[in-house]
Order: sequence, then structure tokens, then C-alpha cells
Amino acid sequence: MGIRTGQEYLDSIKVRNKVEIYVMGKEVKDVTTNPFLKPSVLAFKATFDSAWDEDTKDLARVWSPFINEEVNRFNHIHRSPEDLAAKVKLLRKISHKVGACFQRCVGYDALNTLYIITELMAQHGKTEPKEKFIEYLKTVQKKDLALAGAMTDAKGVRTLKPHEQPNKNAYVRITEVTKDGIYVSGAKANITGVAASEEIVVLPTRAMGPEDQDYAVAFSIPTDTEGIKIIVGRQLNDARRLEGGEIDALPYFYNHEGLVIFDNVFVSMERVFLMRDWQYTSQLVEIFSAYHRQGYGGCKAGLGDVIIGATYNLAKQIGVEKAPHVQDKINEEIFLTETMYAAGIAASLNGIEVCPGCWWVNPMQANVTKHLVTKFPSQITQLAIDIAGGILGTAPSEWDLKNPKIKELLAKYLQGVEGYTAEDRIRMVRLLENVALGVAFQIESVHGAGSPAAQRIMFSRLYNLSYAEEVAKRLAGMKSNVKFTKKVEPWRESETEKLAKEAEKSTVTASGGK
Ligand code: SF4
Repeated sequence: MGIRTGQEYLDSIKVRNKVEIYVMGKEVKDVTTNPFLKPSVLAFKATFDSAWDEDTKDLARVWSPFINEEVNRFNHIHRSPEDLAAKVKLLRKISHKVGACFQRCVGYDALNTLYIITELMAQHGKTEPKEKFIEYLKTVQKKDLALAGAMTDAKGVRTLKPHEQPNKNAYVRITEVTKDGIYVSGAKANITGVAASEEIVVLPTRAMGPEDQDYAVAFSIPTDTEGIKIIVGRQLNDARRLEGGEIDALPYFYNHEGLVIFDNVFVSMERVFLMRDWQYTSQLVEIFSAYHRQGYGGCKAGLGDVIIGATYNLAKQIGVEKAPHVQDKINEEIFLTETMYAAGIAASLNGIEVCPGCWWVNPMQANVTKHLVTKFPSQITQLAIDIAGGILGTAPSEWDLKNPKIKELLAKYLQGVEGYTAEDRIRMVRLLENVALGVAFQIESVHGAGSPAAQRIMFSRLYNLSYAEEVAKRLAGMKSNVKFTKKVEPWRESETEKLAKEAEKSTVTASGGK
């Protein structure tokens, strides 16, 4: 099959027989028609459309050496730094089409994470996970499956490790192992796009010790499986989607997040990639989080473009687009947006080949990218609010515009510059409201792929503070132990690079130094 169309994807998720999906307390059978979920399904669909649209297909189609066919990039394993950069570019482009998170990148990053981690395990002598993963990858690529990635656990009491929790299922865990597979229980929280997916790739959310080995589990499972329950979260203004309008909710695209509960769910053994392998969990978390943090440089920059465009148009509608302070604020929005993108591209082009053919992002720059994204979207939104004016919070509804008794009055009092109508003004205000103040640009930007503190922890792990201090001491004329090498950046090796080096050494030793 190779590359599917958006319609083929919709057809495949229409009928669900086993999984239970709940929205606002009611069970949903068809996610493609449910008014709450349909906009999210359409945003997910845009990733399939990207492989067919003229403007994106060169970025979205890529050759897979695993199945010797073109595949959709969202199921591709990165083969070069240019591949990593193409991901960021594609994400920016798709954001222009949907103005929302399109949800498929978590599964994409989970695939690439498992590719690296199972390769490193193989180099350490544990070959079975890699063999199973490659078979799974081929199926995903051949069928062009829609994957959700599930990492964040419910977590219970944050100060306690998984095995110390009063609720033993606060983190997803193995409850039983049979010769055919494993049974798992627990819950994954805030899982992006899960109700619109065909498969869930589950990863551990934190580094585990030996006492947490039952929680050190990674596997894939069809979303439509007995025992899986998905409870979809609410969002600001979500009830507008149930009104049946065409302006106020911009009912075309949104993302959704869900709580995914595994109630003693069976996972067949060929889909279990980590089973009590706690020794690899810290690297797995590091690899995945850096991949997803790099991606934000693309999708959030794309949303920045939408907001810049909306801000500029609203300024034009009232005739202030040439005012110096407005131009200055729009330039600031551009600077903030392009900085996020530049960081994502840098994290890609400075990517690291941690094992032959395994291209990981640059961990420092990926973390910097995401940290910018925890700050800049709120600043961009602040500027947009400033330019758009109070109407962003006070605009009448589309139903007022459609009421024959008042629509002429609104046409008269909401119009600014000739050539734009009151409806134009309301439409653009609603777009700005939904994108700039929505979950994808505000909350996801802060907490998706790890909250700000998680990136700061990585900064202190990766930055070689002692080296910088010795550099400064030397310049100050103090006694200094600085040793200059060809390496430019004062960065330490990540846990993943250390593991890869160990693996390399053991391979060299095993092959007699060749
Ligand atoms: Fe993709 Fe961005 Fe959404 Fe993450 S937040 S799934 S990178 S669109």
C-alpha cells in the first residue's frame, strides 16, 4: 500500500469495535463524524494529505530502505541531518494548512526512538527487540499506519518512584508475562491525537531503577483493542463546536488529548520492545524528548506564521498596518517565530549519528528549541492581542451576524477600512482567538514534550560549566586548567552518546578490534 490518501485513513478509523472512547461523558463510536473529534481527525488527516499535495509532497514522501518503497515521512526513520531538517520544514508547512497541532509527530518520534534504542540494545548483545521492532516498522510503513505515541503516565504522587506509589498502576506496568505476550495495566495522560490513531506506541516516561523493572516497558498495540479506554479532555471554547456554526468555533481543525487507560490489556510478544529493560530507560526518555523538542521548532513556528498573518490582516482592516508601533510589534513576532524555527533547524543539521544509520537530533539545541517554545508563543500572543484590540475578547457571535434584526447594525459598526466586511473582521478575530489562545499554542507549548524544568535539567547536564569557568579564569589571568581541543561547543556527552560509545567499544572488542 505504501502511501495512503487522507480518505483512506478516514475510512480505516471509522469503525471501532473494541476500544471505548468518551467525550464529555458520552461514548463515541465514529470519531470521524463526532462534532467534538472531527476537527481533530481532519488535522491528523492533513499529515496524509501532505504526501499528495503538490506543495508538500517532496517533503512528505521519502524512500524507505526497510521496504524499498516510498513512505510517508511521518513513518520514516531519519537517515541524515537533512532528513531531520525536512521534518521541521514539513511541520511548519502543515501548521499553515491546519492552524493546530496535527498530532502524528509523537508516533513518528516514538518510532525513531525505538529504532535507536533497540539498535543500541542489539549492540550490547540483546538482538531480539531490534528484530521485532524492524518487523513492526515494516508493517507500519507498508500500511502507512496512523500512530499515536504514549509516554506521560498518570504519575500519582510526583515525589514517589513508580514502585513506591500507593496506586500500583500510577505508571503503566507489566502485570503478567505469558509465553505469548504480556498483560499491562495503568494509564497514560495527555496523549495527543490518540482517538484519531490506529496504533498506540507506548514508551516509559522516566528513568527506572531495578526495583521499577515492571514499569520499564515499551510496546505497540492497535488502538481498537479490548480493555483500552480513552477519555478525551475538554478545551477552551470546545462547546462552540457543538453549535453547528461555521465561524465561532472555526470547526475545521483542532487537536485533542486523552487519558488512555489500559485495563489488564494483552500485548502480543512480537510487539513488546522493552520488557523490564530498566537499564535503557533514561536513554530512551532522552532520545524521545529531544526528538519531540526539535519538532516544536517547526509546528510552533508555523502557528506563529498564522498568528502574524492574522495580526497583520486585522491591522489592515482598521487601517493601522503602517503605524510604526504596529510594524515594530509585527517585526517582533517575526523575530520570535524565526528564532524558534532557526533553533529547530540547527538541532537538525547538527544532528548526531549515534549508531550507524541512526540519526538523532542535537540534544542541546533540541532542548533549547523547546525552551524557546515555552516562552515565545505567549509573547507572540501578547503582541497579537495588543494589535488586534479588545475585540479579541468582546466580538459578537456569528449568530448575531446572522440575525436579520441586527446584522445591518453590525455591518455598519464593525467595519473599518472599505473593502473589508464585518464578517471578515469576526472571521479573523475568531481565527486569532482559536489559534493564539488555543491549547496547541499556549498549553502544549509549555508542557508538551516536557515542561520547562525538564529542559533546564538537560542544560545543566549537557553544558560543561567547568570548561567555561576555566576559559574565564585563563582570560582573567588566574590559574586555569583549561585544555583547548578541536571541539567548539562546551557540551558534555548525553547519556545516549555514552551508551552508544560503550556499544561501539563492545562491538570493536567482539570483532577483535576491526
Ligand atoms: Fe506535531 Fe507539534 Fe503537535 Fe507535537 S505539538 S504532535 S510536533 S504538531
